[in-house]
Amino acid sequence: MKDAREPLSPAAWRSPDLEIRIGISSCLLGETVRYDGGHQKDSYVTGALARHVTWVSVCPEMELGLGVPRETIRLVGDAAKPRLVATRSGTDLTEAMNTYARARVGGLGTLRLSGYILKRASPSCGMERVKVYTKSGIASRSGRGLFARRLMDTYPLLPVEEEGRLADARLRDNFITRVFAYRRLRALEESGPRAKDIVAFHTAHKLLLLAHSPAHYSALSLQGLRRGPGAAGGAYDAHQSPRGEARRRLCRRPDLLLAVPEGAHAPPSGLKRLGSPSQRLHNGNATQRGLRRRPPPPSGA
Ligand code: SF4
Repeated sequence: MKDAREPLSPAAWRSPDLEIRIGISSCLLGETVRYDGGHQKDSYVTGALARHVTWVSVCPEMELGLGVPRETIRLVGDAAKPRLVATRSGTDLTEAMNTYARARVGGLGTLRLSGYILKRASPSCGMERVKVYTKSGIASRSGRGLFARRLMDTYPLLPVEEEGRLADARLRDNFITRVFAYRRLRALEESGPRAKDIVAFHTAHKLLLLAHSPAHYSALSLQGLRRGPGAAGGAYDAHQSPRGEARRRLCRRPDLLLAVPEGAHAPPSGLKRLGSPSQRLHNGNATQRGLRRRPPPPSGA
């Protein structure tokens, strides 16, 4: 995987050729990296989604050198700061995993990731509700995998989901929309935008922003875009911060996405004939997952 820090033009965020890279737990791609030599291949990930993205596969336990087959590991102690311990031998892998994760997650920053899909329930990769054991062996679903914690702490705005949650049509729509919006926002950032580029980006995303947070849309306009042509830096900062907050709010209100009209997704023009990214992915996968097919969003504004 080549380093992705090539300069982009100011209009690059509109390009249909922008590559979408998504980090992923290797076992979800069917790689035989689980402790028992098995995998957890996910049909949505390897089917509908794989046609539109480039995967960056990461197995923290293999890259740590634990090998296959290996002893099972689990989180133990304080859920806010658990230890990672081998179940049978009691070997404490916390420091080794934290050191590895710090370096690996830092390296991912050069790859222009636009999202990450994690394996649920894993003491390394699980995003939420991972089992944490007390000394007496009682488990509570209150933890987060050590690699996942480092990833999410380092890149708080990166869209992250677990494969299990992507079976929910609304959460899936939400994730895909965030991935594309994040990719465009990063492309804008990397191009060194001038004020007029930021205004163009803001305008193209007006309906999407309004659908999720009218208050933040107004704040963006007032804080940044009305400062005039000399305020590119300030305008961009203003655009990033409230938008990030709006995106976090969006995570808690995925139902709002259903109100977003087709144009508001502003898909790359080359994909328009296929519908919005989230619509294509949803339609392509609804029957696969045995989910009820939902009518497409309205086509007008
Ligand atoms: S859950 Fe994570 S650590 Fe475990 S096998 Fe899958 S990729 Fe590797």
